[in-house]
Amino acid sequence: MPLASLPPLPSDADLRRLLQFSTEDGRIWLAGQRMLLVHTAALQALRRELMTSLGAEHTRRLLLRAGYASGERDALLARQVRPDAPLFEAFAAGPQLHMLEGAVRVTPRVFDLDEAAGHFHGIFQWDHSWEAEAHQVDFGPQDAPVCWMLLGYASGYTSAFFRRRVLFKEVQCTACGAPHCLIEGRFVHEWPDGEQLARDYDPDSMLVRIDELQSQVEALRTQLQPADEQGPLLGRSRAFAGTIELLRKAAPTQVTVLLTGETGVGKERFARALHAMGPRADKPFVAVNCAALPAELIESELFGAEKGAYTGATAARVGRFERAHGGTLMLDELGELPLPAQAKLLRVLQQGEVERLGANQTRKVDVRVVAATNVDLEKAVEEGRFRRDLLYRLNIYPIRIPPLRERADDIPLLAMHLLQKYAAQHGKRLAGFTDRALAAMRAHTWPGNVRELENLIERGVILTTSDDSVDAGTLFPHLVVLPDASASVSPAGTLEQAPPAQAAQLCDAVLSSGLTLEALEDALIGEAVARAGGNLSAAARTLGLTRPQLSYRLARLNERNTR
Ligand SMILES: [Zn+2]
Repeated sequence: MPLASLPPLPSDADLRRLLQFSTEDGRIWLAGQRMLLVHTAALQALRRELMTSLGAEHTRRLLLRAGYASGERDALLARQVRPDAPLFEAFAAGPQLHMLEGAVRVTPRVFDLDEAAGHFHGIFQWDHSWEAEAHQVDFGPQDAPVCWMLLGYASGYTSAFFRRRVLFKEVQCTACGAPHCLIEGRFVHEWPDGEQLARDYDPDSMLVRIDELQSQVEALRTQLQPADEQGPLLGRSRAFAGTIELLRKAAPTQVTVLLTGETGVGKERFARALHAMGPRADKPFVAVNCAALPAELIESELFGAEKGAYTGATAARVGRFERAHGGTLMLDELGELPLPAQAKLLRVLQQGEVERLGANQTRKVDVRVVAATNVDLEKAVEEGRFRRDLLYRLNIYPIRIPPLRERADDIPLLAMHLLQKYAAQHGKRLAGFTDRALAAMRAHTWPGNVRELENLIERGVILTTSDDSVDAGTLFPHLVVLPDASASVSPAGTLEQAPPAQAAQLCDAVLSSGLTLEALEDALIGEAVARAGGNLSAAARTLGLTRPQLSYRLARLNERNTR
């Protein structure tokens, strides 16, 4: 019905009668709803703060939803107050209440409903919108309409009145210089962009958005991290090539990968490589070290928690699983996961859903899990520390990352790469490694693997003067280096093994100290026994003696001291 054929608005006396100022008890009622007489200045100040802290887009959505809630309330009222009135008159209670509440003057222009055909078209003219006025005071003339609360009210009212989603758009606004504000509403399916409009009213949209941003940040961080920080996945040894081949085959699939290997072999680097080789490369890679989190926090960290789920949970918390949505979640040191969390993890892996602590519904997550461990999970199962069913679930595609000593051929390559990295970091130009240093590195057993190599080389870089080569002695200060280039490194030990240069230094020190040979022997024995905590067998071993030999010398020492 265009304007000419629209009946005039009915009297609003029925609505005015519902308004009751209950001054004795400090309340205002509109029928059964408690109302407030609020200064527009207060709402204006609130709006200003929201705009500054959240930005226009979040403020718009928040206010749309606030308006929507009040519109819904008024629709219930309209149906009660005008139950038998013709449709347009019953509907008009909404615009009339909106006016009565002081929001805006409403003039219906088009009201066209064909319920059977699923068609609604409404156009309303607004004058004196409080929002347009307040917004311009703070922010001046606008490029886009700003009557957000009012618009939310129109959508909320109409949707609740028709019991069917109607969404309004503000097509012109006085804040943009138009003579009136004008809104146009249709059923959500009638708008070509209805889905997008509806998203504004999703109650969680801001939290969801923040989560999305968080995931994007994680993904960007993954991509931006310089190759070095992700660690050099360098190598040409057979052991290394075998591991990479296994990774490459797993990468395009969704299979759960279990990375095993000693500490320091670079499991996270391999996990990142797996992520980067697969179709999830542009999605987040999230790593969790299960051993680094306190047991009481690990579940909320992994699965998230609703507000109030536990003491101190003052806000809802997004778990790492949700954060890794679409991407890869690496669970490092999985063997350290407490048993209750293991049960939950198993459920997530089986069902692809997480349940936040304190939540009563689950959320779908699409996450590829890479688990890593340096403990023998089979053994942990036997000892009752790890669930067998979880191990079966994780052990579908195990990849063992070889320790560095099995990749001796890769050491020169890795060492050179790390040398360049740390030389750049410390602003040095170094010539490389001496042959002795390279031989020493090949011979070392590397209990700490690549991480140990990295630490030694950083120290070597710091200790070596510019333009020099890093020598074995700076890499392995506690080990004794034999002068013969064909020999390498032997464990720190007895004096006999010391090279002449070091022995000479030691002799210099002893001779200049003025100690007698006897006193030196006493001091050495005393120190060895003290360091071994009184354990004579251990003390004897460090001195290169048998236990009876040490006992004999100790007896002689005591005899001397008591003399
Ligand atoms: Zn407006």
